[in-house]
Amino acid sequence: MKHKFSIFLLALASIFISCNDREKETNTNQEQTETKENSSVKVDEFADIKILRYEIPGWGNLDLKEQKLVYYLTQAGLAGRDIIWAQNYKHNLKIRKALENVYANYEGDKNSEDWKAFKTYLKRIWFSNGIHHHYSNNKIKPDFDKEYLETLLSETNTELSGEPLEVIFNDKDAKKVNLDEAEGLLSGSATNFYGADVTAAEVEEFYANKKSPNPEKPLSFGLNSKLVKENGQLKEQVYKVDGLYGDAISEIIKWLEKAEAVAENEKQANALGLLIEYYKTGDLEVWDDYNVAWVEATEGNIDYINGFIEVYNDPLGYRGSYENIVQIKDFDMSQKMKVLEDNVQWFEDNAPIMDEHKKEEVVGVTYKTVIVAGEAGDASPSTPIGVNLPNANWIRQEHGSKSVSLGNIINAYSKAGGSEKLKEFSHDEEEIELSEQYGEQADKLHTALHEVVGHASGKINQGVGQTKETLKSYASTMEEGRADLVGLYYLMDPKLEELGLTDDHTKLGKAAYNDYIRNGMLGQLTRIEMGEDIEEAHMRNRMWVSSWVIEKGKEDGVIEKVKKDGKTYYDIKDYEKLRELFGELLRETQRIKSEGDYEAAKNLVENYGVKVDQEIHKEVLERNAVFKSAPYSGFVNPELVTETDESGEITTIKVTQPESFEGQMLEYSKKYNFLKEDAGAE
Ligand SMILES: [Zn+2]
Repeated sequence: MKHKFSIFLLALASIFISCNDREKETNTNQEQTETKENSSVKVDEFADIKILRYEIPGWGNLDLKEQKLVYYLTQAGLAGRDIIWAQNYKHNLKIRKALENVYANYEGDKNSEDWKAFKTYLKRIWFSNGIHHHYSNNKIKPDFDKEYLETLLSETNTELSGEPLEVIFNDKDAKKVNLDEAEGLLSGSATNFYGADVTAAEVEEFYANKKSPNPEKPLSFGLNSKLVKENGQLKEQVYKVDGLYGDAISEIIKWLEKAEAVAENEKQANALGLLIEYYKTGDLEVWDDYNVAWVEATEGNIDYINGFIEVYNDPLGYRGSYENIVQIKDFDMSQKMKVLEDNVQWFEDNAPIMDEHKKEEVVGVTYKTVIVAGEAGDASPSTPIGVNLPNANWIRQEHGSKSVSLGNIINAYSKAGGSEKLKEFSHDEEEIELSEQYGEQADKLHTALHEVVGHASGKINQGVGQTKETLKSYASTMEEGRADLVGLYYLMDPKLEELGLTDDHTKLGKAAYNDYIRNGMLGQLTRIEMGEDIEEAHMRNRMWVSSWVIEKGKEDGVIEKVKKDGKTYYDIKDYEKLRELFGELLRETQRIKSEGDYEAAKNLVENYGVKVDQEIHKEVLERNAVFKSAPYSGFVNPELVTETDESGEITTIKVTQPESFEGQMLEYSKKYNFLKEDAGAE
């Protein structure tokens, strides 16, 4: 399962996936991490797409052998790049190669609107790994006509004719994945997973007759093949070294073998060995063995995803799209969490909750962010923000799964928002400055406190059921609010300074509080439409936490609501008092959970967390409207540049950034050009 970035999540700073209920979790605030100028993150923008870059923090923490492992794994991933193009649509490679040839060789007028439209079209198909939109699945419409393309083709001596040319302009194969049965799941889908004359009913029957050797461990039939008809008989063309896409697969294997040789430990090496065997044989039992080995290989600083994995692109849900993500440990975040975990009992003992609700022996909740070092296939340029694998249920149950959120990707998304929004919604200069200086640190620590300490804290009274039974539909937002409050309460605690987690707990706390209230009361309203209530659990909790402390602190002037030139701001006047209010609300929230007090939960959420002040909502949407930008984003990969000695041994690997999106795409097409233009096209 992958967690894709959605417009809903566009402005969120931290998104992680490790909560008890495994829901996609979004914590704390958005604006404060949108502070750095976005030019350092944004590489290109065209049509509805923004191209960003991401950094690889912690690269220097890896030794050369580990860096080599990362390098080999990213090369293995890129070696299979052409496969996703062929899987997405049978004419994709042919079209891409033709258009790239035009792009490289055309010497005519490059200032014309037609040429600009051609360039945009090519960028769009690079982004989507094919001629269908990566998100809507609709075929991308070019803003130039066929005559113009034919001129380009002839002037550059490029061969493209017949269906691959016509299909760019006509109505054929209009949708990549069609889930509307009326249109025909297979006949209505352009993905290249089935022969043209294969029907959905035949596929169902074909796989209904397949039997797994062990029914307790059902194999992922169909995952790594194309199903075609030969002389009226259904036959799988298996993706393997001497099968379909074999030319690219043998390159993948070559790099995986190098990776295996520099593996960090035996478990990791074993897993890589099984993956190689799987690519050689296409054997789905080996694929399962590999997944078991992979999920159990948890030691080490480096991990990866590689294979035919997610089945979303197959309307029938059998066939996996080629994908690769290489990850390194998030050293910074791991260190912060370790410190909190080591001290989790101190936080429990000093929490403002009632003693009877404290755990005598609290165990920190672990969760994992990783740093992406390279992506390919279906994970690039459009990337997930978190991944939870393997997909096979029996492996998840017997051997567990790996769930990670991709920290640097999420961070780059947040930074792309720019500092303008922060300025628009901040009350004063000090607020902006604090956010710029401490916002990112506050957000990271809030995330860590929320997860490690927050979700672990407190206990339910004896005889009281789990919150799903007692608090019902309010259980989620109450739990998330409670964990947020634990974080908020401690973000201004001198203990954080004592533990070396910040150099100034006062500034850190102030930045965190400003950002939380600003987001809860204003910023997050940009994500719902006029007239709507707040529904999502985390959005609700940010609203009820913020509204509650504002109301309770009103008399003492803790937070002042300010109107300036028709714009609303919140100005925190007394941070110490606000911290006390967070503590008070935490105590009450824990009481509600411990006692299973449904009525109190309902009152808190309904009175403070659901309804939106219509006047303020309208105002916020208007203020936000000027910041509109492309709705979809994706990434170029950093480049891992090797230096070698006389014997060819790698001596150094440096991380650099590509100059442009088209530069990287052309480079990839040249360097990882392992499939013929008609590969997989029958
Ligand atoms: Zn949570």
